[in-house]
Amino acid sequence: MTNAPADAAARRAVAPVIVYPDDSLIPADLASYGRARATARKVEEVMIAPRDGGCFRVRAGQFFRISSVEGPQVGDLNLWAADDLGERFFSGKTRALHGTHVSTGDRLWSCLPYLRPMATVVADTLDWYGADAFGGRVHDVIGTRCDPYTHRLLDGGEYHHCCHSNLSRALAAATGLPVREAELHVHDVLNVFMCTGFTRDTGQYFMKASPVRPGDYIEFFAEIDLLGALSACPGGDCSATHSSDAAACYPLKVEVFAPEEPPEGWAPPQVNGYSRGHGV
Ligand SMILES: [Zn+2]
Repeated sequence: MTNAPADAAARRAVAPVIVYPDDSLIPADLASYGRARATARKVEEVMIAPRDGGCFRVRAGQFFRISSVEGPQVGDLNLWAADDLGERFFSGKTRALHGTHVSTGDRLWSCLPYLRPMATVVADTLDWYGADAFGGRVHDVIGTRCDPYTHRLLDGGEYHHCCHSNLSRALAAATGLPVREAELHVHDVLNVFMCTGFTRDTGQYFMKASPVRPGDYIEFFAEIDLLGALSACPGGDCSATHSSDAAACYPLKVEVFAPEEPPEGWAPPQVNGYSRGHGV
């Protein structure tokens, strides 16, 4: 352990600054989205079986809702541009822009060099939860997805129904890609309904029983044409364990809604305007 310098207390007392103040982002026009949503009718429904994954497609200007059914269950969400698997959800930058957990009004951003909103959260029935006494919050963009490689590293053995594998099988089925190729497109997730945080003393990533109950949902507006994949995590409500068949698991429901007209004043966002010169 290194001895603290004489001015250690002064250094620690420096106030933090927000890395990316979000007041320079153009906010979503939720009122306009809401008026369009009021005219929408359901055009698709996909049930995701427990410990399995499934894909769905949403056109730009439509809405999609992920709902808890039957019992508390968390879901791992991946998003791609419908016509380009190279443009995918960027959980790290979404976290940097909006915080460790997302709710109504926050955007899900795509990776570099695209960096545009893929979807906007328009409703969240768990927004009342806020932060609990442990620092836990809901819908995180911290976690990466449970996967069989980390499971093997820490516990040994083979388990084929981690979210990484569920998403890989779902993408392979939706695209016709071999599963070993499909898995290369699977990326860090939005942990839908998952309640997580970091411990104050050791800074470790923690999970706790999700407060989600059947009937709860989170709903998104698709800013661009999307291919989505959702895994019903083998951790169930993630109160105890994952990467095994031990936890009670339930299905998740995905519904897609098409409004009569796109929201007034809305247009699909363009890809980021940076020249990509990189100083060369
Ligand atoms: Zn999982």
